Amino acid sequence: AEATLSNIAATDDTYEAFITVMKDEALAEAKAIDEAGIDPDNILSGIPYGIKDNLVTKGVTTTAASKILQNFKPIYDATVIEKLRANGAVGVGKLNMDEFAMGSTSETSYYRKTKNAWDQTKVPGGSSGGSAVAVAAGQVPFALGTDTGGSIRQPAAFNGIVGMKPTYGRVSRWGVIAFASSLDQVGVFTRTVKDNARVLAAMAGQDEKDQTSSDIAVPDFTANLRGDIKGLKIAVPTEYFGAGINADVKTTIKAGIAKLQELGAEVEEVSLPHTKYGVAAYYILGSAEASSNLQRFDGIRYGFRPEGVKNLDDLYVQTRSQGFGDEVKRRIMLGTYSLSAGTYDAFFKKAAQVRTLMNEDFQNVFAKYDLIIAPTTPNVAYNFGANEDDPEVTYMNDVLTIPVNMAGLPGMSVPAGFVNGLPVGMQFIANRFQEETIYRAAYAYE
Ligand code: GLN
Repeated sequence: AEATLSNIAATDDTYEAFITVMKDEALAEAKAIDEAGIDPDNILSGIPYGIKDNLVTKGVTTTAASKILQNFKPIYDATVIEKLRANGAVGVGKLNMDEFAMGSTSETSYYRKTKNAWDQTKVPGGSSGGSAVAVAAGQVPFALGTDTGGSIRQPAAFNGIVGMKPTYGRVSRWGVIAFASSLDQVGVFTRTVKDNARVLAAMAGQDEKDQTSSDIAVPDFTANLRGDIKGLKIAVPTEYFGAGINADVKTTIKAGIAKLQELGAEVEEVSLPHTKYGVAAYYILGSAEASSNLQRFDGIRYGFRPEGVKNLDDLYVQTRSQGFGDEVKRRIMLGTYSLSAGTYDAFFKKAAQVRTLMNEDFQNVFAKYDLIIAPTTPNVAYNFGANEDDPEVTYMNDVLTIPVNMAGLPGMSVPAGFVNGLPVGMQFIANRFQEETIYRAAYAYE
């Protein structure tokens, strides 16, 4: 823990991955573990890790990278934090992200500008940009993130590491600051597939505090990591290699697929015909849920409260006008609009129907195949401010990650090579609760 903290102190001026370093808490926990003795049967015992700043940590400032939570100290720990502590892992700090996890570059953070681990002139990806960079730059061996539309897989791809978004319901959302509750899921960033399987096993499982968490048993995700994928049936969706996907990214992923074939997998091309509606439907549904979830930030209960307000209404208005950034306001407006009486049928209902069709697309494929392989992102990491004037360009870049969230599937990004000196991620997608298949194939590939 001491070495990790001093490494963070020495490197974080370069990366700006951390919003809050938990020095005292980490040293106290590490000391307690030292005194009790490292548990030789638990691989996580004494291992430091980083936490995305939208996971609540008891007594430690938790901002979700928003001004509106600038001095919010939660009174409890998220279930994932409790579980990792019970396994001996030591939280060392809270990591930067897009405000309320809305974004793809971590630039919407109120606090810091996190840099890509490979090239500090490039974005780290997002929304879990701080988590990905902290792992890729060697600041921590693993970190937690959340993924609502790609926020673990995309920054993992941009920083050349492994990022797993588990099945919806696999991991408790208790203590996650909600963005879109039907899509949000907590997951793990690591440098290797095996590390990832180990951490997820420690965090997963049913939680009485989250009624959407599943009672399906958590297998030992490391049990089948033997490098053998003979006979595994892999589907490659045509729509994920269409126009708008960088040609060199496609070539890199095709080489990755060829390698899986050499290892004994059977590969066939398939169609997921509703992919093209995914981005539009996601930004309606995600924003609708966000507009509802973010109602609680009213200036009374949490964090920031403006000076000199005239009355209760003014308190709400001033708190939210001054406390939320532009991207969050855009989502609240879009969400409120699409839920309102006159527009609900045309927008929210349509988007919900599209979601069902996308889910059916996947179920048709998984009736015959074990795994889907695709690029994680259409491009490698780009310059800061690249899409400043046009948020829709950024939204479109989520086209390859959003479908997984819409269908509640597990998806993982694994490093597959480089384009222009920047990492490319290959996405492994399986049916619900089949994380084991993803880990088995990714381990063989890695
Ligand atoms: N980029 C997507 C968005 O801005 C996904 C974010 C996420 O997964 N939290 O909504």
